[in-house]
Amino acid sequence: MIYFKDGEFLNEDQIQVSADDRGYAFGDGVYEVIKVYDGKLYTAKEHLERLVESAEKIRINLPYTMEELTEIVESLQSENQLTLGHIYLQVTRGVAPRAHQFPENSVPVVMGYAVESQRPLQNLEMGAAMKSVEDMRWLRCDIKSLNLLGNVLAKQDAIEAGCQEALFVRDGLVTEGASSNVFGIKDGVLHTHPANHFILNGITRRVVLQLANELEIPVLEKEFTLAEALDMDEFFFTSTNAEITPVVMMDQQPIGQGVPGPLTRKLQSAFNRQIPQLTAAGHAEERESNGPAS
Ligand code: PMP
Repeated sequence: MIYFKDGEFLNEDQIQVSADDRGYAFGDGVYEVIKVYDGKLYTAKEHLERLVESAEKIRINLPYTMEELTEIVESLQSENQLTLGHIYLQVTRGVAPRAHQFPENSVPVVMGYAVESQRPLQNLEMGAAMKSVEDMRWLRCDIKSLNLLGNVLAKQDAIEAGCQEALFVRDGLVTEGASSNVFGIKDGVLHTHPANHFILNGITRRVVLQLANELEIPVLEKEFTLAEALDMDEFFFTSTNAEITPVVMMDQQPIGQGVPGPLTRKLQSAFNRQIPQLTAAGHAEERESNGPAS
């Protein structure tokens, strides 16, 4: 695999990270995951804009312009000849002796790589199960921070309960998934948490809202309770890797009929139509395995 670090493209033997990198010591940085379909980056502009915004929110001055960031992710795709997978890109505040406050002269460290990953075809087709957990994260979930301890613990909790994703609930209200946004459908209306500091405004979330608009599905960006979630006709979670994953079980109770619902299917089809189309070979490869849920 070819990595990018600080202006250079390096192989596994060449890439090194410092033990004093603030990403390593404090999770002091931000990141993005960009999907590649059929050798083409999907919604790269939106992801890179969010990276710039996340960096600004934690006062890291990115050493690259949008044009340069675009070149970096495009080069990672081509250097690795990636057809189906994703690009990971992270920026930390830099290398400095460990002390909480910002170091005076640190230079941000930018690191990225490209990795093959399959579409989660089994979950997309059959649906997944969620487990509700208390949202004990900090109050700036709008920042795509490297600090993911709350998300890591929640996901592990869900996996150990035989589920694919955790459902965060804060003060009785559903926020998002451990690594996804969540949507419910009740009486034909699509419900999701508003994009504020309690959730990450997912790029897939934005695509789904756009598709709902085109399909004339009414949308309500308003909080709902766990009880209301359990009573939805349909439910799904979205992310760059999970795409639109139907949820058929929540806290061991079926959602609706316990199978992916018709509006979820409609949104999935619309989503599939607007991603870079996979070649026949790409489809054949995909069908051999089922990737991660998110
Ligand atoms: N919320 C959280 C907490 C996430 O980690 C993710 C995945 N990065 C998302 C939502 C979905 O974001 P996106 O659609 O941009 O991948």
